[in-house]
Amino acid sequence: MILPAPPSPILLLDLVAEHAALQPALNEALQEVLTAAAFIQGPAVGQFAAELGEYLGGPHVIPCANGTDALTLALMSLRLPVGAEIIIPAFTYVATLEAAALLGLRPVLVDVRHDTFNIDPAAVEAALTPRTGAIIAVHLFGQCADLEALRTISTRHGVALIEDNAQAIGANFQFAGGETAFAGAVGEVGTTSFFPSKNLGGLGDGGALITRAPARAALLRQLANHGQSQKYHHQYIGLNSRLDTLQAALLRVKLRQLPANTAARQAVAARYDAALAAVPGIAIPARDPRSSHVFHQYTIQVEGPGRRDELQLFLRKCGVPTMIYYPLPVHAQPAYAYLGYRAGQFPVAEALCGAVLSLPIHPLLTTEQADYISASIQSFSE
Ligand SMILES: *Cc1c(COP(=O)(O)O)cnc(C)c1O
Repeated sequence: MILPAPPSPILLLDLVAEHAALQPALNEALQEVLTAAAFIQGPAVGQFAAELGEYLGGPHVIPCANGTDALTLALMSLRLPVGAEIIIPAFTYVATLEAAALLGLRPVLVDVRHDTFNIDPAAVEAALTPRTGAIIAVHLFGQCADLEALRTISTRHGVALIEDNAQAIGANFQFAGGETAFAGAVGEVGTTSFFPSKNLGGLGDGGALITRAPARAALLRQLANHGQSQKYHHQYIGLNSRLDTLQAALLRVKLRQLPANTAARQAVAARYDAALAAVPGIAIPARDPRSSHVFHQYTIQVEGPGRRDELQLFLRKCGVPTMIYYPLPVHAQPAYAYLGYRAGQFPVAEALCGAVLSLPIHPLLTTEQADYISASIQSFSE
């Protein structure tokens, strides 16, 4: 069958256009930093942290160099013994594991739920041992993991909950008691990333830690700055992990745009949902009614052996770029072979790696483009 050409070139992400619209404000922020020349720990860093904290309902925000460092710092702040076990979902970006492994902690993988892609609380409970030091929940693709169940497990067993919130900044979760909280502000520590492609992306690397506990915030701040509370006085072995003043100044501009960008992503997702819900062989992303979804990714599942790869190829020919997050579960990565996991141990994560396909979703994707992408998928399934 012959499809019309796409309405305009479709990109997975259009940072050039996004930044063009913000150019005057970004230029002004850049000029200000250039003129003041306080490139490390300049005033914009604290201002950005305060503004992000306010946006997230009031927790402390501690900026750092990137999202992987944020995970490392979160684990360092727990002061766990070497070999302590860190429960981590088998379907995630490798950074979640990397931080634990580098600190001499033992990643203990557990499977995820096939509908939400997020860590399965029942599997977490089954993986607890007296050596468990922390549980890391990843709010994958922009939707909160089951924070209700995870918070209960964390409290009941006295094991810290860390939220890897690199993909769900601004998502919120409603607890059974009626209270609502932002992703990243529920566990002992939340972490996030300002990698350019994230929902709140800088113009380079960046990250942050989120916590409601003042003592934890002070410790994290110290750990991120060579373990020092006072210049040249070091209580802890720390990291040099700071957000550049320049990135903070640019991120202040990007943060103002975040609510509108999130709404735009949600509008694209709703359009995809409506067009794709009834397409045979395609499963649209499941929504947990307790969580909002900020759609870092819009990830469908394609049923049938080999069909996902066929659809990806078909879409490429239609001018529709797509991505596979993630083609390999973390336990199949050579770097983590030492953990001793075998194929078949995490059947849901393994099946997802063969079935998921992330469609273009960014704030400037037009309704015509979204409809063309949906039509392409419909014609593939006919
Ligand atoms: C992007 C990402 C990270 C790492 O963030 P960086 O800033 O690239 O170090 C960690 N976890 C998840 C789930 C991510 O998506």
